[in-house]
Amino acid sequence: MLQSLTTPEEQQRSRLALASRLGGFAAGASNLEELFRALYDEIARVMDATVLFFAVYDDASQTVEVVRQMDRGVEHPGGTFPLGQGITSEAIRTRTPRLVRRWSAEGPVRLLYGTETGELVAPESAVVVPVISGDRVLGVLSAQSYEPEAYDEADLFTLSAIAAQAASTIKRLHATEQMAVEYERHAFELEAILASMTDALLIVDERGAIVRLNRAARQLLCLDSASLVFGQPLERQRLEQWPATAREIAAALVPVVEALREGSSVAEEEIELRSGQRRILSVNASVLGSVKAGLQGGVIVFRDTTGQRELERLREDIFAMAWHDLRTPITVIKGQAEILLRRLSHNDRDRKALKASAASIVSYTDRMADLVSTLFDISSLEAGLLSITPWPMELASLVRDVTDGIRSTARRRLQVRAGERIVGEWDERRIRQVLMNLLSNALKYSPEGSTVTVSATADERGATVCVSDEGIGLDAAELAQLFRRGYRTESARRLKGAGLGLYFANGIVAAHGGRMWAESGGHGYGSAFYFTLPLQDERSDADLVEDRA
Ligand code: ADP
Repeated sequence: MLQSLTTPEEQQRSRLALASRLGGFAAGASNLEELFRALYDEIARVMDATVLFFAVYDDASQTVEVVRQMDRGVEHPGGTFPLGQGITSEAIRTRTPRLVRRWSAEGPVRLLYGTETGELVAPESAVVVPVISGDRVLGVLSAQSYEPEAYDEADLFTLSAIAAQAASTIKRLHATEQMAVEYERHAFELEAILASMTDALLIVDERGAIVRLNRAARQLLCLDSASLVFGQPLERQRLEQWPATAREIAAALVPVVEALREGSSVAEEEIELRSGQRRILSVNASVLGSVKAGLQGGVIVFRDTTGQRELERLREDIFAMAWHDLRTPITVIKGQAEILLRRLSHNDRDRKALKASAASIVSYTDRMADLVSTLFDISSLEAGLLSITPWPMELASLVRDVTDGIRSTARRRLQVRAGERIVGEWDERRIRQVLMNLLSNALKYSPEGSTVTVSATADERGATVCVSDEGIGLDAAELAQLFRRGYRTESARRLKGAGLGLYFANGIVAAHGGRMWAESGGHGYGSAFYFTLPLQDERSDADLVEDRA
C-alpha cells in the first residue's frame, strides 16, 4: 500500500502502468548495482520502499550476497552472509514470498543485514519475495517499512512480478559475466598459442593495418616496437627505418594484404629474400570476418621454408650426382659383362682377356658400392641420422694403415708421423672415412712427385691429425667456405668431385665432439687439413673409480 496513492483506482492504474513497463524493465542494466537502482525506482513508484533490500544467492556456497540496500533514501553498500534462519533466508529456502504486516506483533525483529557497519534496523512491515528462475533461487528482494501494515497481498503480487523480471536480468548478467570469463580464457589461450607458435603471424584489420604480430613475426622482421607503428597500413609504415629484410618482406606482403582487403585468401605463396642470407618464406593468408560483421581483415602466416627447400635441393643434387656418377660404372659393367658373355659363348680361351673383363666388373662394382654408401651417408648426415658407434681404438696405427693402403697408387711421396699410440673411443669406420677423404684430396689437389705428410699427435685435451700437401693451396675466402655442402673452389673445377667429401668429413668429426679446419699460405702454397678428436676426460675416469668404490 503506497501512502501517496490513496484510492484503489489510483493503485490499480499504477500497477497496470507497472505491468506495461515491466517488459523493458532493467534492460539497460549492465551490472547488479544498476539492476538494484532500476528495481528501487520501479518499486518506489508502486509501494512503500523506505527500506529496500536486494541480494543474490549462491546455492553452491549457500551464501546471500547483498547487492545494495536503501534505507530512508540513503543507499548502503552490500555484504555477504550465510543462509540463516531469518525471514530472508526462509524466503530463499522455501521459495515462497512472505508478507509481514506487523512485525513487532509477530515476534521480536531485529534484522542485521550485510551492511559494512553491521547496522541493525527494525522495520515494522515487509514483503519478501525470492527471485526465482526455473527451479533455481537467484536471489531475494524485500521492501520494508517502519510503519505497520504498509503492505498487502497486492504488494506481494506486484513485488513477485518485479522479482520475476529481475530474475531474467540476473540470468542475462550471469550469462554476460560467464561470457566475459570465457572470453578472457579464450584470449589467454590464444595469446599463449600465438606466443608459442614457431610460424610468424600477422593480423591486419580491414584497412590492411597491422594490429597484432607474434614473437616469431617480430623476430623474422627483426623489428622492435619503435619501428613498427600499430594500426598503420603497411604502405604508411616508416619503412625507411626498417631493416632490409623487413622491408623486403613488407614489399612482398603488399599484394597479400591487398588480396585480404578484397576478401580473398592466399595459399602457399613463396617469397624469396635476397637481402642478407638467402631465405625462402612460404606465406598463407586467410580472411577474417563473418556474414554478420562483414570483412574484418585477415591473418597472415609465414613459415621459413629455407631448410626444407635446401633439403629438397639436396635430394635433387644427390639424385643428379647419383645418376651422373653411377652411369659410368653401370655402362662399364654392362659392357664388360656383354664382352665376357660373348667370349664365353664363342668358347674364347683368352684367359687374360677374360680375367681383365672380370676384374673390371669387380672394380667398377666396388666404385658403385662406395658411391651408393657415400650418398646414403650424406643423406643420413642431412637428416641428422648419422650414426657414430664409439669403441676403443688406436689412432696412430689407423693413420699408418690408411696411408699404406693408398701408397702404391699415390704417385706422391707419402710421409707418416704417427709413432705414439693414441687410444680413444671413436668410430673407427667413420674416422677411416675422414682420413681417406683428406688423403685423397691431398693427392688429387697436388702435383705428382710432391710430398703429402700425415701426422697424428695427442696432448691432454685430445688427438690431432694433420694431412698437409704441396698442392694448389687455398686463399682466405676459399678457406672460409670449404666445409659448406657442395662447395668447390674455382681451381678445383677441372678435377672430378662433388664438394661433398669435406662436408661429410666435418660432420663426422663434429659428431665425435671434435673440430676440423684448414690452413694454407695461399694459391700454390699447399694446404694443411686438421681435425681433432676428444680424448676421454681423465677426471671423469677418476670419478668413475670413486663411484664404484
Ligand atoms: P671434392 O674434392 O669432391 O670437390 P671435397 O668436399 O672433398 O669435394 O672438397 C671440397 C673442395 O675443397 C674441393 O673441390 C677443393 O676445391 C677444395 N679442397 C679440398 N681439399 C683440398 C686440398 N688438399 N687442396 C686444395 N683444395 C682442396
